Amino acid sequence: MEDRHLNIKKVLITAFILIFSFVIIFFSALLTNNSVSSKKKEKTSNVRTLASSKIDNNSKKITSKSNTKKNKNAENNQNSKEDSEEAQEKSANNDQQQSQDQNENQKNEVEENENQESSQNSLGVLPVPNPNSAEQIKSIYFSDEKQVYLTFDDGPSNNITPQILDILKEEGVPATFFVLGSRAELYPELVKREFDEGHYIANHGYSHKYSQIYASVQSVIDEYNMTEQAIQRALGTADFHSYLFRFPGGSSGGPYNDLKAEAKNTLWANSIASTNWNCLTGDAEALGRTKEELLARLAETANGRGSLIILMHDAADKQPTADALREIIPNYKNQGYVFKNFYEIFKQQ
Ligand SMILES: [Zn+2]
Repeated sequence: MEDRHLNIKKVLITAFILIFSFVIIFFSALLTNNSVSSKKKEKTSNVRTLASSKIDNNSKKITSKSNTKKNKNAENNQNSKEDSEEAQEKSANNDQQQSQDQNENQKNEVEENENQESSQNSLGVLPVPNPNSAEQIKSIYFSDEKQVYLTFDDGPSNNITPQILDILKEEGVPATFFVLGSRAELYPELVKREFDEGHYIANHGYSHKYSQIYASVQSVIDEYNMTEQAIQRALGTADFHSYLFRFPGGSSGGPYNDLKAEAKNTLWANSIASTNWNCLTGDAEALGRTKEELLARLAETANGRGSLIILMHDAADKQPTADALREIIPNYKNQGYVFKNFYEIFKQQ
């Protein structure tokens, strides 16, 4: 009997231990689960707190703005404030547009500078005075050397000069521009481009009105100086001096012949040479000349000469000149001519 009792006791104790262990495991599992979910809840609430603090910040900003508005409203009346805000917005847009434009301009400038760097280093330099320049220029007129000095007077013009510069660039040849001071003031950027692309900038006076420039020797000198200053402003340097003048209508002949001779001496006394031409396209001789007529006139006047100083014009009505130039350059290249400008004479020896 006792044995049976003992066995029953053992079974009960084992069963009790098993049930107790199970209960403990169950509750501990339950507790663990609860703590995880409470942590999750905690995290969520933290995110909510952050989010709400952000909203709070935003609302603070909005509030502070609206306070500013209120304050402003207190100072100004509503209508004028709206007007000024609209103006501010417009000006902000304008500023943005301007800064975009500026960026684009700067980009273009950088690109242009990169393109011009090679010519600027080798050619776009300041002329220097040459005590033998008058004699050397005269010798070009009668030289047998096959050389071409392309010269353009009366510019710059915003329609023809850029075309001529493009052609010169495509062909890789230098030229000389006898600019008018009055035109250089209108299109300084074209004078700058001529210079930067290695062409020689020379002086053709300011007004091109014969009665004005040839009123006295002093008028010639004054127009020369005004034009030098216009070029200096266009190039951004007061160190530029052209040392070369071309008299409107040529340096001799006509009703102002004596005055021109006197002015020429006065200029030369100041190391300023002058030059005419020894052949021409006739693009200023008559209105409406065709490209073919210009080419024929050049062939006629240049015939038999080794060295050519060709008179042309880059004024606004000289489209046939630009068209003719497209043929003139390759024509002379094919005949073995070398293209030069007056840096040949006014450069550091
Ligand atoms: Zn002229």
